[in-house]
Amino acid sequence: MAGEDAQTMRRTSVGVRVGTVTIGGGAPIVVQSMTNTDTADVKATIAQVAALARAGSELVRVTVNTAEAAQAIPYVRDGLDQIGIHVPLIGDFHYNGHKLLTEYPACAEALAKYRINPGNVGSRSKRDSQFAMMIEVACRNNKPVRIGVNWGSLDAALLTRVMDENARAPHPLPANQVIHRAMVLSALESARQAENLGLPGDHIVLSCKMSGVQDLVAVYRALAAQCHYALHLGLTEAGMGSKGIVASTAALAILLQEGIGETIRVSLTPEPGGDRTQEVVVAQQILQTMGLRSFMPMVVACPGCGRTTSTVFQELAQKIQNYLVEQMSGWRKQYPGVEEMTVAVMGCVVNGPGESKHANVGISLPGTGEHPSAPVYIDGQKDVTLRGERIAEEFQEIVERYVRDHYSTQNTPQPSRQDIR
Ligand code: SF4
Repeated sequence: MAGEDAQTMRRTSVGVRVGTVTIGGGAPIVVQSMTNTDTADVKATIAQVAALARAGSELVRVTVNTAEAAQAIPYVRDGLDQIGIHVPLIGDFHYNGHKLLTEYPACAEALAKYRINPGNVGSRSKRDSQFAMMIEVACRNNKPVRIGVNWGSLDAALLTRVMDENARAPHPLPANQVIHRAMVLSALESARQAENLGLPGDHIVLSCKMSGVQDLVAVYRALAAQCHYALHLGLTEAGMGSKGIVASTAALAILLQEGIGETIRVSLTPEPGGDRTQEVVVAQQILQTMGLRSFMPMVVACPGCGRTTSTVFQELAQKIQNYLVEQMSGWRKQYPGVEEMTVAVMGCVVNGPGESKHANVGISLPGTGEHPSAPVYIDGQKDVTLRGERIAEEFQEIVERYVRDHYSTQNTPQPSRQDIR
């Protein structure tokens, strides 16, 4: 199975502890997200971090760009703890991180990890000392650091150096490969510098984000081949809507399938007024559809075709999907393992019975001209045939009963293999 291949092929990486979560070292791939609130707005930031965490984000990054934002961090942390949200917070620092981390020790303490962009640490003469200041704070507070290279802010001095070397080479590389090389070098040289300053390798996560799918794949393959640091994957500036989802999925799926990547973020631009938690759902769906982790029961539904002129099966698929989403917050604790359940909702006899038999619970609705009955299959065996107006309600009851009978800790315990905490 593809998921098993990707699991067994995973490269060996050093595990990094971020608060209560482990990245790499064989731990399940971690889902993370980032807020888009003004961090200084404590109330709004708490609300969005809580929403992201409730959606399933296991780490949440917040920007720390001003003194006000740095001052707000301990209050955000406290506010979240008070409402029972203990998701680790990561501070995102650019340009003034050395000042903020040293001048606001409570901020440095409240964060579980720091993200440092080596291209935005400071100008040439100050770059090393300002980078060192941040690493020293991390060492003092025993915090891990993500060295996050981004091609939109690649270290200019390093890029010039790599370009000059390339120009002198007997067989110069094309421009895009020079950038790939500079991205990887920026991450590796900064990591080496951090280790020389005393930050252990198991406190370092690397990322090299690019916005092109093929660029990202090339850079991460090179990075993974040259180090054992835990890697954070993400296609930067993925974009909006289906384009952002498809581009992120294409890039991440290739790398994850090759065993590369210990934590992921899907950088979607929300529609105006859109829901920020969509990026968490997409990240979870990438991992779940690849068989790498399970977060919630999956509904397998056929697309429908000319054999189904009614919308009955679409409505049933949506109803069941919504029902499962609504139940999951309670089920997760009450019925461990339920996230691995599959439910099939199929439109006609062509693939309906076959697909339904592969699911834990499946229903094959009647297509046009078929006998108006809907056989239900449980773990591959035909259980009952539903008819009439209440098919949806009765099928939901069957699913509910299946969950109670198969996942209740009162019955047969089936602890989740995916619980990373
Ligand atoms: S299962 Fe039936 S209704 Fe669904 S896509 Fe296939 S042929 Fe069409």
